[in-house]
Amino acid sequence: MAATPDQPATVTPRRKAGRHRGEGQWAVGHFTPLNGNEQFKKDDDGLNVRTRIETIYSKRGFDSIDPNDLRGRMRWWGLYTQRKPGIDGGKTAILEPEELDDEYFMLRVRIDGGRLTTEQLRVIGEISQEFARGTADLTDRQNVQYHWIRIEDVPEIWRRLEEVGLSTTEACGDTPRVILGSPVAGIAENEIIDGTPAIDEIQRRFIGNPDFSNLPRKFKSAVSGSPQLDVAHEINDVAFVGVEHPEHGPGFDLWVGGGLSTNPKLGVRLGAWVPLDEVPDVYGGVIGIFRDYGYRRLRTRARLKFLVADWGPEKFRRILEDEYLKRELVDGPAPEQPTGTWRDHLGVHKQKDGRFYVGFAPRVGRVDGATLTKIADLAGAHGSGRLRTTAEQKMIVLDVEEAQVESLVAGLEAMDLRVTPSPFRRGTMACTGIEFCKLAIVETKARGASLIDELERRIPEFDEPITININGCPNACARIQVADIGLKGQLVLDSDGNQVEGFQVHLGGALGLEAGFGRKVRGLKVTSAELPDYVERVLLRFQEQRESGERFAT
Ligand code: SF4
Repeated sequence: MAATPDQPATVTPRRKAGRHRGEGQWAVGHFTPLNGNEQFKKDDDGLNVRTRIETIYSKRGFDSIDPNDLRGRMRWWGLYTQRKPGIDGGKTAILEPEELDDEYFMLRVRIDGGRLTTEQLRVIGEISQEFARGTADLTDRQNVQYHWIRIEDVPEIWRRLEEVGLSTTEACGDTPRVILGSPVAGIAENEIIDGTPAIDEIQRRFIGNPDFSNLPRKFKSAVSGSPQLDVAHEINDVAFVGVEHPEHGPGFDLWVGGGLSTNPKLGVRLGAWVPLDEVPDVYGGVIGIFRDYGYRRLRTRARLKFLVADWGPEKFRRILEDEYLKRELVDGPAPEQPTGTWRDHLGVHKQKDGRFYVGFAPRVGRVDGATLTKIADLAGAHGSGRLRTTAEQKMIVLDVEEAQVESLVAGLEAMDLRVTPSPFRRGTMACTGIEFCKLAIVETKARGASLIDELERRIPEFDEPITININGCPNACARIQVADIGLKGQLVLDSDGNQVEGFQVHLGGALGLEAGFGRKVRGLKVTSAELPDYVERVLLRFQEQRESGERFAT
């Protein structure tokens, strides 16, 4: 079908415009943009902004950037303007975007499957030190995030990243984002199936592909063949979870429609088993449904989870099979309950080849360029040069000979990177927060780090797995709703009636086969200053009252 000014070249309307016209779905022939975001995406593909960055903006500076590129299309290459320093959380909702914009950027490096080499990590560390004032956070989607990036430096940063096989392509924006993968893919003794070839093929076919670069919203995905359920598959738009089919052997159980933020929804199973070599086709079908049938009228209803909730899993599977795959999928089993309580692979573990992997924890994903460079040196001296990032803001060094383990652990611990961390360091995550995020209401990273230190000091004997997820606003980037203790940043009143930074508390959320959302504790808000006292009280009460074997979430 030829492209017309009103219709994307790759989409043929499948239905007559009618009842669903108001949702702005392309598949029912509705190609007229219904909001500013849809308009700028139609005006020019976000991927095209790269040329303007390289040829115009990086040479003429921040003020030369077109506003639709600055607050829109630059995301397609992993760039967001960061928050101007000194603007308090009370102003977040009332200031205009340009009043919040600093002239520096956050830049996200996508690390599909969390796979890194020491060479790549060294380059990430060097860029951090040279261009990002030393910043480099590990995110809960296996990425690395820089701050303080100047537009003038972006082409050189891309050149260095791409030279070692890394990129920022579609790290943000209404695009297929980083593909999460098991951090122990290909090496874990208990692995059901290694999803790495599928991740590589999805990257090759779909990332940076203009046929899929104008989605209704972001599209998050995960592929893991680990029985530890280690990629938070329940909160992705599409996820492939390793299972053993009684007749066909190892493959993947297909989940769709997960997502947090406001209106959180857990993904649902379609009851379909997908063999490894068909994962990219099925990914293509699901992303195609999202592009064509996804709701484009309101951004607050545009994630795939809303379409899945309206259709239900049966209809979703039928459309996937009939209109996209042109064949039926094989029915398959659900994943089994994992045996361990943690999903993060921290500590020292034997690989299937007899060597070891060593997982370690900074505090709330906060590292820096100098530390990353030292981690690369340590990994190079003790392993084969392979590392992984996790979906819990942690890292792993692979392929360590038994005789080298002790020295590696000592080297990591000397840098305050704990291989056997307290449950608090292990289970606490924090989003970017007010330090750099324009949507934030409260501070998160430093708050999370000091909370860990306080809890370690106050209750050193606590030995239960616990997750504490600290978020700077309702957007849930650090998964408020699925933590034992989920904290949503907002302004609250202190005992003197003053408005101060604080959190709405959610208790008892979980991932895994017991997945569920934490209950908002009615009226329970704590100020940031009261947070350590509050969390200590909750944990001590749980410790006193729990029945044998009871988890916090139950
Ligand atoms: Fe920013 Fe809110 Fe996401 Fe935190 S949860 S990174 S404050 S948008």
